[in-house]
Amino acid sequence: PPAVELDGVTRRYGETTAVDDLSLAVREGEFFTLVGPSGCGKTTTLRLIAGFEDPTQGEVRFSGESVTGVPPEDRDVGVVFQNYALFPHMTVGENVAYGLSFTDPPGGGSAEARVRELLELVDLGGMADRDPDTLSGGQQQRVAMARALAPGPDVLLLDEPMSALDAKLRERLRVQVREIQQELGITTIYVTHDQEEALAVSDRVAVMRDGTPEQVAPPRTIYREP
Ligand code: ADP
Ligand code: ADP
Repeated sequence: PPAVELDGVTRRYGETTAVDDLSLAVREGEFFTLVGPSGCGKTTTLRLIAGFEDPTQGEVRFSGESVTGVPPEDRDVGVVFQNYALFPHMTVGENVAYGLSFTDPPGGGSAEARVRELLELVDLGGMADRDPDTLSGGQQQRVAMARALAPGPDVLLLDEPMSALDAKLRERLRVQVREIQQELGITTIYVTHDQEEALAVSDRVAVMRDGTPEQVAPPRTIYREP
C-alpha cells in the first residue's frame, strides 16, 4: 500500500471548503510536493495528514491503515512548519533533544548519541552548544528538521520550510533537504507555492487548485507556467 493515502478527503471551515474531495497516494520513500498559490489548500492537506485537523469527509491512511482518530503524536510523522520556530532559550542540541520528549531514540542508543547523529546528518555537527539565534536561517531550518527526524518518523512533512530565506540560501537548503531525504529514504511530503522549487526537488508533484490536485505527475511532465 502507499505510505500515505488520502481518499476523497474534504475539509470545510464554515462556508469555506479548504480541501475538496482530494485523493492522492504517496509512495514509500517518495519526495512528493504539493504546489499551488496561497489559499489552494496545501497547508490544510498537510495538517490533515499530521492529524492536527480531521477531515469533514473521507479518510487518511498510513500504509493502508486508517488513521481516523489517531492523535498527531501517534502518527509517526515529523513536521517542520514555516512558523514552527526553534525554542530560543534552548541550545541547538536541546532543541533537537526536544524531539525525543515523547519517545525513546530509535535503535536503543542514548538521547545524546541520537542528537549528535542527527546534527551530523543535517551537516551541523559540533553546533550542539550554540544558541539558535547565532545560526543562519537555513541552519535553523536544518535544526528544525533534525528535531522532527529525531524520533525516527516514517513520514516527514515540510510546510514552506524555505520561504523566509533569500533566493540563494533557498536553493542551497533545498539541495540539502533532498540529500537528507535520500540518505534516509524517508517518505516526504513538501508544501511550497514556488513552482520552480517544486520541480527541482520532487519525485512527483501535485499541482493544487481550489482544494484539490489538478495534476499529479513527475516534474518533467508538469506543465510549466510560461
Ligand atoms: P494554502 O496552504 O494553500 O495557502 P490553506 O490550506 O492554508 O491554503 O487554506 C485553504 C483555504 O482554507 C483558505 O481559503 C483559508 O483561508 C481557509 N482556511 C484554512 N484554515 C482555516 C481555518 N482554520 N479556519 C477557516 N478557514 C481556514
Ligand atoms: P499558509 O502560509 O500555508 O498559507 P496560513 O498562514 O494561511 O498558511 O495559515 C496558518 C494557520 O492559520 C494554519 O493553521 C491555518 O489552518 C490557519 N488559517 C488559515 N486561514 C485561516 C482563516 N481564514 N481563519 C482561521 N484560521 C486560518
